[in-house]
Amino acid sequence: MNETYTAAATAREKQFTQVAYDELDSRHHGAIHVPIYQNSLFAFRSYEEFDHAFTALLDHHVYSRGNNPTVTYLEQKLAELEGAEKARCFASGMAAISSAILSSVKQGDHVICVHQAYGPTKEFLSVYLKKFGVETTFVDGRSIDNFKAEIRENTSLFYLESPTSGLFELQNLRECAAYAKEVGARTIIDNTWASPCFQHPLALGVDLVVHSITKYISGHSDCTGGVILGSSELVDQIGYNEYMLLGGLMTPQTAALVAKGLRTLPLRMQRHEESGLLLADFMSRKPYVRRVNHPGMTSHPQFELGKTQMKGYGSLFSFVSDEPLAKMRAWAAKLKYFKIAVSWGGFESLVTANPYGAAGPDGQTGTVVRMYIGMEDPKDLMADIDQAWASL
Ligand SMILES: *Cc1c(COP(=O)(O)O)cnc(C)c1O
Repeated sequence: MNETYTAAATAREKQFTQVAYDELDSRHHGAIHVPIYQNSLFAFRSYEEFDHAFTALLDHHVYSRGNNPTVTYLEQKLAELEGAEKARCFASGMAAISSAILSSVKQGDHVICVHQAYGPTKEFLSVYLKKFGVETTFVDGRSIDNFKAEIRENTSLFYLESPTSGLFELQNLRECAAYAKEVGARTIIDNTWASPCFQHPLALGVDLVVHSITKYISGHSDCTGGVILGSSELVDQIGYNEYMLLGGLMTPQTAALVAKGLRTLPLRMQRHEESGLLLADFMSRKPYVRRVNHPGMTSHPQFELGKTQMKGYGSLFSFVSDEPLAKMRAWAAKLKYFKIAVSWGGFESLVTANPYGAAGPDGQTGTVVRMYIGMEDPKDLMADIDQAWASL
């Protein structure tokens, strides 16, 4: 085992204790899991206390569109796992992403975003923010030179997503963060695929991390949520502005559900990583598969880069097939354990098939099938894949 590998393994093991252990909170009568504070407001014994709370709203319990103890608990757990000073939870991944972006741009600014970023994020940048005079250029994020080629005086933000969740392309996070600092731009990364277990971009110099909690972090396909993580300074700015003014807050019920999911996050990620790699390898041997896109496979063009910035791998990957879309959709429909659905990160395996053009660069042909590997026995999933193909 080399040193990098040992350090990564130790960091992974430590997370098992981080999710299991809570210091006893004297407010909770020894309750071993965080209680749900079903409150909109919090009352004060005196005007002195009331006025004091208003000097630092986000450090006191005044109103739940600000601070709720159940949500704060989850934020502290997530900050610990991600290695962040502070976290803010939102109603969905998009609420977190749009708030993080809005906090980083003003009228007349320019954004550079990776071209394979999550679809609604791209729409928010290229269509919605355009109304307010913010312009976005999309680049192939695999080379820092593509960022350098598009830099302008008014570039204030690099928006990253590594790996991307359609074709699983990486950016070199250290290089992107260092170059952004050099030109005075902020960096935000969507870290949903790797989860707080397998990639820690803040340690590599990125300013803000966002996750769709809906995926791995909650892990049970039973709620939506999002989180922004970073320095206290940046996250509090977002807390006082986008969080309180746009109001896309996470409810205490959702926070308690997510907190429960978090108890098993490192364990689930270990299982997802193993099964994902097994299934990616299995698919790469099929005659109807042209190429598998999974950053943990040695055949991935950025496998070596991935090892320098990730500690493990998610279980969402895609493959490209020369078979027509209709045939791949017929195959997907014959699968028993893989449900046809959007989203991912839960216990259940999923599949979607799209024309390559929808996910990939123009001019490419074929079908892109995205597979999400859940908690089932990988042998059952493999048998399912073969029976579905044989039945066509
Ligand atoms: C799902 C997803 C989002 C958006 O999260 P929501 O909770 O659906 O708003 C953002 N980024 C990635 C990579 C996602 O998969």
